[in-house]
Amino acid sequence: MKFVFIGPPGAGKGTQAERICAENNIKQLSTGDILRHNVKIGSELGKVAKEYMTSGRLVPDNLIIDMIKEELNSPLYSNGFLLDGFPRTIPQAQAFDELLQKFNTKIDLVLLLDVSDEEIITRISGRRICKTCNRVFHVVFNPPPDPKECDKGICDIYQRDDDKEETVRHRLEVYHNQTKPLVEYYSSQSLVAHIDGIGSLDEVYDRIKSHFPSKV
Ligand code: ADP
Ligand code: ADP
Repeated sequence: MKFVFIGPPGAGKGTQAERICAENNIKQLSTGDILRHNVKIGSELGKVAKEYMTSGRLVPDNLIIDMIKEELNSPLYSNGFLLDGFPRTIPQAQAFDELLQKFNTKIDLVLLLDVSDEEIITRISGRRICKTCNRVFHVVFNPPPDPKECDKGICDIYQRDDDKEETVRHRLEVYHNQTKPLVEYYSSQSLVAHIDGIGSLDEVYDRIKSHFPSKV
């Protein structure tokens, strides 16, 4: 199965993606995670991307499209994937459609996670991430575990640089201007499932699951 996950920053995509992928034996592809890894190791891509990411702007389309093409070559994605954070612009979606056509395949479903801007601010300001296992938590709604209970060693919890309120407000603007038009783009292909993202993690997951094609 091939899914695309669209939603504002902090809507809960990464959180839900982890469960969807684990339960359906498909691989999550988060462009944000790949970019943060590149920033961390100081690659050429990371050096360019860092400036855009810190200020809450989108990394240029050509860099993202090249990155996705290379990443999707990996056999890790052969059983299916969930794209978290890509595409984020119409040119990215068009380039992705060309790539899918080349491989004679299609997206099965586009999940649109809907959360209001004010709730986003609450969620992002409490977001914490484990450097070791990459899992996402919230100080109130989904508190980080005891450090010793990390899947891959000792949990090392941090807050993302771009999760400051001012940067988040800018990222929301970018979402409304550049990413929201994708809803129309994919609706014209009858692919979009609208999901109310307000509620507990289980409630949101159940809503998502109700849209899965019966094969999943
Ligand atoms: P969030 O989970 O809060 O939506 P991400 O981790 O997906 O944020 O992305 C963090 C930052 O990485 C974005 O603000 C942007 O600068 C960059 N980024 C991630 N994916 C893309 C993309 N598809 N196109 C352009 N920039 C991207
Ligand atoms: P995204 O990948 O869309 O940027 P995340 O999955 O990182 O979003 O979630 C953003 C923050 O909101 C995290 O701190 C996460 O723990 C929290 N969160 C996710 N889903 C919910 C929910 N249903 N209710 C409350 N908080 C949530």
